Amino acid sequence: MYQNLIFDWSGTLVDDLGPTLEATNAVFSLHGRTPMDRDEFRRLFRLPYSEFYEEHLPGVRLEDLEHHFRRAFAESQVPVTVLPHAREKLIWCREREIRCFVLTSMDRSTFEKQLDDLDMRVYFEATYSGIVDKREVIREILSNHQLHAPATAFLGDMIHDVVTAKHGGVTSVALLTGYTHREVLEAHEPDWLMADLAEFRTMMEQHLSGQS
Ligand SMILES: [Mg+2]
Repeated sequence: MYQNLIFDWSGTLVDDLGPTLEATNAVFSLHGRTPMDRDEFRRLFRLPYSEFYEEHLPGVRLEDLEHHFRRAFAESQVPVTVLPHAREKLIWCREREIRCFVLTSMDRSTFEKQLDDLDMRVYFEATYSGIVDKREVIREILSNHQLHAPATAFLGDMIHDVVTAKHGGVTSVALLTGYTHREVLEAHEPDWLMADLAEFRTMMEQHLSGQS
């Protein structure tokens, strides 16, 4: 069973869809594009976000988009919250000495602030933020922390997370708590497709009790 868990952040451990949608629409309106509603955004948004913006706002410099996005995100009044079952899962891991990490595309300063505001820092051995293309660092994480790939899973809510897990040779766990619909994730054949982190915890618990 898994001794090491690498978590995506948005849509996996925290719910930031509200402010993310608000900030994306602020960037869109700045460039004269029609805003998206929640459902449209969940269908169309994808990582690496550079590709999403190139498709919807072709030719606009990524640095400019990021600048406006971060400002609108910081100004949003919609709160970012810890997803149900996320903290419980992290505490459960800590009690069993399962090593936990974060790998997220969120820019470093926003992520660091959320980590402290939500009192989540204590659960992680190391965090990797501001990673636009997670495939580029997944193997580095394994080697930096000497994580055995067959004992490691990467949990995330987007296609890019499934692709990254496969690229790193670790188990891919797709979660339905975030930005992507079930059928989209299913099509990319993750090793596990789970409703939420409670389901994942139950699966691990059953496996562990079966071992004893
Ligand atoms: Mg995510």
